Amino acid sequence: MRYAIISDIHANLAALVAVLGDIERRGGVDDFWCLGDIVGYGPDPAQCVELVRCLRPLGVAGNHDWAAVGKFSLTELNPVAATVCRWTAQQLTMRDKLYLENLPSVAYKDNFTLVHGSPREPLREYLLSVSSAKQNFSYFPSPFCLVGHSHLPSIFTQTETGDCSFSPFSDSVGLALGKKRMIINPGSVGQPRDGDPRASYAILDSEINMIRLHRVAYNIGLTQSRMVKQNLPLPLVSRLSSGT
Ligand code: ZN
Repeated sequence: MRYAIISDIHANLAALVAVLGDIERRGGVDDFWCLGDIVGYGPDPAQCVELVRCLRPLGVAGNHDWAAVGKFSLTELNPVAATVCRWTAQQLTMRDKLYLENLPSVAYKDNFTLVHGSPREPLREYLLSVSSAKQNFSYFPSPFCLVGHSHLPSIFTQTETGDCSFSPFSDSVGLALGKKRMIINPGSVGQPRDGDPRASYAILDSEINMIRLHRVAYNIGLTQSRMVKQNLPLPLVSRLSSGT
């Protein structure tokens, strides 16, 4: 089976459409897994929720998804994110809101646990260091865990001694899934933060136990002009150009 792993779309429809096109060009997938934050920051929340819903992914909720439907406190978001979140809530239909509301915080499939932030704190914790990743290995039962939230393509590997190592997840080589447990972040579709502004996602091939990261150029200017039109905060507009 082939699975597309997408995360942190953040209402960036142009980026999502480009990623779906890239997946088609690579022969398509059998199923989609979505690690949350479909909405927030970007200009097209309703269109993105509808498109994701049509993909029928195995999905989990992100903090922005639940904040937009009142299941996560706006006081826990930074002020800019909270402002956009209030605007986002006004754009969503009842059907969109029900979809976001009913997303679980954790999902399991085969050898994988899916969460947005971390297995320990699915809606809150950012996995940015080996020390926090190391602690998190005891919070999920499966060999592998997929996370989003930090928008940084990354791989945390548990060593034989119970320690943890980190490497950025690059698109140049495939990641072979072996005996070592891993926490893997496929990066962000709609708001990359690793200095590469291209959309980021991954494809898992479960027959050969391989995950490959892909970066996709998309029309950043289109998303930016839609954000300006909606009066969304300018720092959010400009960061898309630099991927930070
Ligand atoms: Zn996010």
